[in-house]
Amino acid sequence: MKKVLVLGAGQLARMMELAGTPLNLDVKAFDVRSDKVVQPISPEHEYGDLAQGIINCDVITAEFEHVAHDTLSECEVSNKLYPSSNAIKIGGDRRLEKSLLAACQAANAKHYFVNNKTDFDKAISTLSLPIIFKSALDGYDGKGQWRLKSQADAQDTWQDIEKFLAESKGSVKQGIVAEQMVPFERELSLVGVRRLNGDIAVYPLTENHHTNGILSVSVAAPVNSDLQQQAGTVFKALTDELNYVGVMAIEFFQVDKTLLVNEIAPRVHNSGHWTQQGADTCQFENHLRAICDLPLGSTSLVRPTAMVNIIGEDQVSDEVLAIPSVTMHWYNKGKRAGRKMGHINVSGETELILAQRLVQLSTLLPAATFPDLAEFAQNYLAKQS
Ligand code: AMP
Repeated sequence: MKKVLVLGAGQLARMMELAGTPLNLDVKAFDVRSDKVVQPISPEHEYGDLAQGIINCDVITAEFEHVAHDTLSECEVSNKLYPSSNAIKIGGDRRLEKSLLAACQAANAKHYFVNNKTDFDKAISTLSLPIIFKSALDGYDGKGQWRLKSQADAQDTWQDIEKFLAESKGSVKQGIVAEQMVPFERELSLVGVRRLNGDIAVYPLTENHHTNGILSVSVAAPVNSDLQQQAGTVFKALTDELNYVGVMAIEFFQVDKTLLVNEIAPRVHNSGHWTQQGADTCQFENHLRAICDLPLGSTSLVRPTAMVNIIGEDQVSDEVLAIPSVTMHWYNKGKRAGRKMGHINVSGETELILAQRLVQLSTLLPAATFPDLAEFAQNYLAKQS
C-alpha cells in the first residue's frame, strides 16, 4: 500500500482519499492551520506533525498552490514531492505564471507588471481600458482584483492598490499584474494529467460559469475538436516544460475561435469535479495514479455531465436525489457564507436530458443560494432544441 501525504486538508484531499482507497492507496493530509497530519475524511484522527508525515509517506502532493515556501522546501528535500515546488509556486504567483506562458508561447491577455505608480501609469498607457489589476500572490475566486473601466477612476483605483501593496506582508514580495480585459465568449477549462514518463491524458474541455467570482456551474459535453486540440497543445507545452507530474487545470477565455490562457492550477480543480460521474476515471484517481507512477486512466467522457457548486449552504432538499443520475458530494464543512460546502453532479445520456435535469434541479434549489442556476439551465436547455 503506497502512502500519500497531501499538503492541505480540505475537500480536494478528502476526495483524493475517497478515490485512493479502492486503489489501496493510503491518503493522509497535512492541515496547514493546525500543523497536524490528519485523515482527510475524519480529521479528528491525527498522525503527528509535518516532519513525521514526510517520513511516514511515499509520495507528497498539494491540494492548493498557496503553500508556505518553507513547507514546500521541507517536502522537496525528501524527493517525494509531486508536482515539484517550482510548479506549485508558479500556480501561486501570477508573475511566474505569465513567465511560464511566455516561455511556452501560450497565448494570453496582454499584461504589464505593476509595483509602483509609474508602472501603474505605464500599464494604463500600454494597455487599453478596461483593465483588470490582479494581485500576484494569494488571489483566488476573484479576490485581490480591481477593474478599471474609465480613466476618471484611475486615481481611486491606484489608491486602493497602493494601500493593498503597503499592507501586504509575507516572505515573497506582493505585486500586481495589470491585464487587458478580453471580450470573451465563454470561460473554459482543461483538466489533464501527466505522468513522470511523459504520458499525458486530458479530459474534454469544461464550460464554466461564475457567480460573484466563484465557480457556480461547470458542464462537460462533447466540444469543438479544434478548441480541444488547442487546449491539449497548451497543456502538453506547459507540463512538458515543467516536467510536471499530476493533474493540472488550465483556465481559458474563448475569444472567437481562439483560446487565451487565464490561469493555471497545479492541482485537481473544482472545474474537474464532474469527472467523478462523467468520465471513465475521475481527476482525483488520475492525480493519485500519476504521482504514484501508475498507468493513467482513461479520461473519456462517459456521458454529458454538469457540476453545480453548493456555496454557503449546508442542506438541500432530499428531493434532489429523486432526479435520475444526480450525485451529492458534501465536504463535511461548517456553514459559512461564500464557502464551498459541497457539489452536485448531474448526468444525462444526452445533452438534452442533462439540460432537462438541470432545469428540474434548479426548481428544487433555493434561488438565494443558487442565483444563476435557473437562468443557466433554461439557456442550456434552449440551446439543445
Ligand atoms: P481570475 O481570478 O484570474 O480567474 O479572474 C476572476 C474572473 O475575472 C475570471 O473568471 C473572469 O471572469 C474575469 N477575468 C479575469 N481576467 C480577465 C480578463 N483579462 N479579461 C476579462 N475577464 C477577466
